[in-house]
Amino acid sequence: MVVGKPLLTVQQIQKRVAELAEEISRDYEGKEIIAIGILKGAFMFFSDIVRLIQIHTDIDFLNVSSYSKTESSGEIKIHSGLREEIKGRHVLLVEDIIDTGITIEHIKNMLLAKGPASLRICCLLDKKARRKADVRIDYKGFEIPDKYIVGYGLDYENKFRNLPYIATLKNNI
Ligand code: 5GP
Repeated sequence: MVVGKPLLTVQQIQKRVAELAEEISRDYEGKEIIAIGILKGAFMFFSDIVRLIQIHTDIDFLNVSSYSKTESSGEIKIHSGLREEIKGRHVLLVEDIIDTGITIEHIKNMLLAKGPASLRICCLLDKKARRKADVRIDYKGFEIPDKYIVGYGLDYENKFRNLPYIATLKNNI
């Protein structure tokens, strides 16, 4: 597999991330939030967005996987859970990409059971065409076509996560 054409450049990503951070800061003005990054894919988006959010933000992570190569296995594995208490707190879930929506819906329900004051979802990329679970996305970066993409935290077999931009992946054979 090789990296194909850039789908989103560094500049496009930076601009949109700043806009999302501004919207979040405005919506939660006067409140404190706990931002939860979904690892591994959201690590870059998470670190970029939290440093631009202008309100008090605690952080935590969930390490989750559901993909084998380029297809969702449908089976969600939680490799490590939250370290912070979320009961009564405003939770902002930060995800890299929502595809079928099954992963985020599963995580959302799991966290709602812990009794947060509120829970919103922020994701950088939305592959709407493949949606199976009807999950509401409160803050969305970009809608993208149904193509497998890598970079800016997203991988193919754990590779390409460190690309600073987002690109399609193509078979080089
Ligand atoms: P869903 O449960 O919504 O189908 O899948 C969500 C997860 O699948 C994301 O968190 C991400 O890890 C992975 N995923 C979905 N589409 C892509 C893609 O195009 N590229 C990469 N690298 N991962 C994807």
